[in-house]
Amino acid sequence: MSHSPAPETLRRWAETTRIAPLPARAGAAPPAISFEFFPPKTPALEAQLWACIERLAVLRPAFVSVTYGAGGTTQERTHATVLRLVRETSLTPAAHLTCVGATREAVDEVARRYWQAGVRHIVALRGDPPSGERYAPYPGGYPFAADLVKGLRRIADFEISVAAYPETHPEAASPEADLDNLKRKLDAGAARAITQVFFDNAAFLRFLDRAVAAGITAPIVPGIMPVTNFAQARRFAETCGTQVPGWMAEMFEGLDDDLETRRMVAAAVAAEQVRLLQANGIDEFHFYTLNRPDLTYAIARILGVKPETGAG
Ligand SMILES: Cc1cc2nc3c(=O)[nH]c(=O)nc-3n(C[C@H](O)[C@H](O)[C@H](O)COP(=O)(O)OP(=O)(O)OC[C@H]3O[C@@H](n4cnc5c(N)ncnc54)[C@H](O)[C@@H]3O)c2cc1C
Repeated sequence: MSHSPAPETLRRWAETTRIAPLPARAGAAPPAISFEFFPPKTPALEAQLWACIERLAVLRPAFVSVTYGAGGTTQERTHATVLRLVRETSLTPAAHLTCVGATREAVDEVARRYWQAGVRHIVALRGDPPSGERYAPYPGGYPFAADLVKGLRRIADFEISVAAYPETHPEAASPEADLDNLKRKLDAGAARAITQVFFDNAAFLRFLDRAVAAGITAPIVPGIMPVTNFAQARRFAETCGTQVPGWMAEMFEGLDDDLETRRMVAAAVAAEQVRLLQANGIDEFHFYTLNRPDLTYAIARILGVKPETGAG
């Protein structure tokens, strides 16, 4: 069989822009990482969560956070999970706390219980109303997250994290108003912001530029969601204003019934995302684990984070 020569091919390859390999991590410390979990609903999910925590704990996260269900619906389960972290692990827990649907007194009481139990880190959020409803401040409640940050500062010397939106919060009047809001939350006493999930690194990096120009100096830690269930992730992204890039949808196209390939694609996509951020100087990462450890563990390893046991 003879191949006809394709004289233009090599020229085309030779003329394309050369991209250097991502800078090696030589000499750089591994990044600081943190993990988000959600409180389990059933004994089976509880067992899954604790297996997940055990697997990830050896990576020595800076902190691990536990979400608060929409409308504060998981208050007791969040509390129980955070307290078990205090009692049974050497991890530093961060409890999510929201303003929605509760008076200031009720929210303050939850915060005081955390402080008394030894919890020193709160992720302070507004929260969302039940699906389909418009948000309205609860009578006598904290209207927005910035107000909650101020309230927490009055209660005790909590370390406070808040939410940031590289692609703008869907209800914000404008990107500028949303950035002003982030600045208010940090000025009110929050130590860092953690971003909403994003898949477009350029959007995040542009957001950092705008934050620095607005005078923000606190870290804005990228929230990374390693996606295996693409269909579910796309639905979630739609509700929170996160763009799903066309290239990503194409990579997962036709894989809904092929879990194994989806897992491999997911690992490649997440690894590329964090490696590019790392190459751009980012050295803190927050992982939305969805209570599943494997992808997060692998991605952390790819970033240079090694378990303390020397195994794995
Ligand atoms: C890292 C992270 C963790 C999260 N964890 C949880 C969780 O555990 N439980 C949960 O229910 N939800 C959680 N959420 C979702 C969050 O509750 C929603 O995104 C919610 O819609 C906004 O919360 P916020 O704290 O960003 O609100 P805010 O900072 O209060 O902002 C909400 C909106 O109001 C606007 N705004 C703020 N102040 C004013 C003002 N004075 N006047 C007019 N507009 C104003 C802002 O621009 C923005 O559009 C989380 C989100 C992130 C990014």
